[in-house]
Amino acid sequence: MKKNLNQKLINLIEYYNLTNINLFLSESSLVRNSKNLNFSSNKEKYKNLQKLKNKIQSIKNCNLKKNASNIVFGDGNIDSKIMLIGEGPGAQEDSEGLPFVGRAGKLLDKMLESIKLNRSKVYISNVVNYRPPLNRRPTESEIKRYLPFLKEHIEIIDPKILVLLGSTALNTLIGNEVVISKARGKWIQKKIGSTNPWIIASFHPAFLMRQPEQKKFAWIDLKMIREKSKILKI
Ligand code: URA
Repeated sequence: MKKNLNQKLINLIEYYNLTNINLFLSESSLVRNSKNLNFSSNKEKYKNLQKLKNKIQSIKNCNLKKNASNIVFGDGNIDSKIMLIGEGPGAQEDSEGLPFVGRAGKLLDKMLESIKLNRSKVYISNVVNYRPPLNRRPTESEIKRYLPFLKEHIEIIDPKILVLLGSTALNTLIGNEVVISKARGKWIQKKIGSTNPWIIASFHPAFLMRQPEQKKFAWIDLKMIREKSKILKI
């Protein structure tokens, strides 16, 4: 009995050591320690990513590309088993050529840090790789055009956990009949090409900045990601 209680206490302490909601809720931002962490011991993977990036860069007659300054391909650890997908680059991302480096990215960094993750432990990309003018949502035809690239990107990274941030990523990869408020916080396993990741949708950090009262739900999702990565031994 006493032993059980002690074990429960140990589990609880371990659990709280792995999460930090205050970090996620606080107004201050984290200092990112590196700009681009696309390091890898896996040369083949790196080469395939470069090939995919070149393929996207040679796309013709694309309004998104025409209006953008830079391709925003991916950031983080290409060997990570956790991949996050956003919607599309904003102004800051367009100018730096990296995903989630603007205000929403700063919140995303804190969300990740609250469950002891950061860009050296995850990989991040978007549904479209060029900034939609005026930060509008990418159109259906733009999404359709970029979907094969996104699927290939996911196949190359081959994550065990795929986190869809917001309704654009959710609708693109799961379908238009689902809404984020209902679909978030649920695990599904779905084949994407040759990969078969566990997928979870959560609110987009930009939405959470507009509606901070929804952070309590995002926190549930973050803890689910933490738990799943423990179960999957990531
Ligand atoms: N929002 C996104 O969806 N992606 C980014 O890279 C930045 C903001």
